[in-house]
Amino acid sequence: MAVDPLIELHGVNKWYGDLHVLQNIDLTVGKGEVVVVVGPSGSGKSTLCRTINRLETIQSGAIRLDGRPLPEEGRALARLRADVGMVFQSFNLFAHKTVLQNVSLAPVKVRGRRRDQADTRSMELLDRVGLTSHASKYPAQLSGGQQQRVAIARALAMDPKALLFDEPTSALDPEMINEVLEVMRRLARDGMTIVVVTHEMGFARASANRVVFMADGRLVEDRTPEEFFTNPRSDRAKDFLSKIL
Ligand code: ADP
Ligand code: MG
Repeated sequence: MAVDPLIELHGVNKWYGDLHVLQNIDLTVGKGEVVVVVGPSGSGKSTLCRTINRLETIQSGAIRLDGRPLPEEGRALARLRADVGMVFQSFNLFAHKTVLQNVSLAPVKVRGRRRDQADTRSMELLDRVGLTSHASKYPAQLSGGQQQRVAIARALAMDPKALLFDEPTSALDPEMINEVLEVMRRLARDGMTIVVVTHEMGFARASANRVVFMADGRLVEDRTPEEFFTNPRSDRAKDFLSKIL
């Protein structure tokens, strides 16, 4: 079934000096799709995420979001960044702001919402990630899993069209991984468009529409989870899977 494309990369190339970190990447993510990106360390997964959000510039190729080319700079770029929420491995919360303030900050500052309206909406989002009772706490008073759920609520507060997750559970103790994955599973079920770099293959099997395998800056496979896990085509993917499964 053809879905409306939300994120499109066509022939994207990026270099860090001599390192060709993204090599002719073609990738389309449809509205409501969940795409899991896997691959060995250093293969370019984080760079890909940052490129989609234009936190990194590219040297050639095209990136479109919801049918429009990515703006180079200025207000249009800020708006686009707000359209694609990003959740990192290290939660990146503001340490001196409460949980509620962390979630409300960007809607007020970037979207120009009224503080009381932003706070009302933030409380709804904190409810969605199971943290209403922690709204007035500071990040340091929360567990890693709770902090990451705040980071997800904060990303959602901008009403993004898509969410990018870069190894959202890699910094967490094992017993906290599932509470974060559960929030992501629910977002996926509710139709959010999600690109996630993760080693959580259970999540990939259960929630991904597609698995994208990267190696050495190239997008080597783009398949359904079923196909990828049972019948990887490339030697690189076979080798990768034999090490992690
Ligand atoms: P992954 O997320 O798959 O581990 P990255 O996208 O972080 O891979 O990195 C891909 C390659 O680019 C690595 O070789 C890394 O060392 C290099 N790299 C990442 N960021 C930079 C940077 N800012 N400057 C130079 N090289 C970088
Ligand atoms: Mg990375």
